[in-house]
Amino acid sequence: MAREKPGGALLSMLDAEHAEWRPLLSLVEAALGEMERPVWSDSVPARGHSPATGQPLLSGTIIRIAPGPVQRWVHRAMAIAGAGASATPFVDALAAGRLDPLALFEAAVTGDPDHLDDLARAAGDDRGVLRVVGPIVAMPMLHACRQAWTPLVPAAWAEGYCPICGDWPALAEARGLDGQRRLRCGRCGGDWRTEWLRCPFCGERGHENLGSLVSEGPEPQTVDVCQRCRHYIKALAGLVPIRPEHVFLQDLATLVLDVTALERGYRRPAATGREVEVIAKPSRLRTLFRLRQWTNGCGR
Ligand SMILES: [Zn+2]
Ligand SMILES: [Zn+2]
Repeated sequence: MAREKPGGALLSMLDAEHAEWRPLLSLVEAALGEMERPVWSDSVPARGHSPATGQPLLSGTIIRIAPGPVQRWVHRAMAIAGAGASATPFVDALAAGRLDPLALFEAAVTGDPDHLDDLARAAGDDRGVLRVVGPIVAMPMLHACRQAWTPLVPAAWAEGYCPICGDWPALAEARGLDGQRRLRCGRCGGDWRTEWLRCPFCGERGHENLGSLVSEGPEPQTVDVCQRCRHYIKALAGLVPIRPEHVFLQDLATLVLDVTALERGYRRPAATGREVEVIAKPSRLRTLFRLRQWTNGCGR
């Protein structure tokens, strides 16, 4: 199985093996670069304590961020996602003002698939493109949240969904020599402990309802399945954790396991959005500048 290597080797490997994914991989690469910008970490809402039981930290937050960097990133992301396509409805819709980049950003961060679909339809797309692209657009903000909030995650977090952003796990990791089982989030890179005999999606613990699909060969690959809810999760083994920013790529790299599970009638659970409000406001510096203009009677 392809395991991550440092220096973007995973990205290069996927690019070489899957030319058809190139726009998507270019977008992931751009998101990884975007994460380096301080605007995202500067905009992480302060969370002084653990949230209510079972509530992910993102739930109910208000993200205040300058509109300029969000608009620039959304425009860039949609241009990359549409590169090489004969039709670029999102780039056109952004240019024509039919798609609000801030609304798209908010929908991406909340992870609400219905909201993303509504925005996509308004922009003239009914192929579900935003459901694929949305999580990547949200990555810089959500990874910044994960970096800031990881120390706040309760040690006893026992839910199947991510304690940071609330998304369902993309992967399970059997990690280290003691084989600790960890769940990993593709949207924010979140990493939380779970029990071996427990379905992350419905909480089933009965071994008669929990099983694994295991491939043959020298490096067996595993998909854990639940007979009760019919959901599955891909299970990878490794001595070291998958880097947070590579979970999304590892999810892509193991697509063959998704096909195996889907062929046998298992599926991933539907995403559910979290309540998050994004307030995009100009930086204070610009506000002061405008105030002076008004004071001088120059208008806007
Ligand atoms: Zn997450
Ligand atoms: Zn289940």
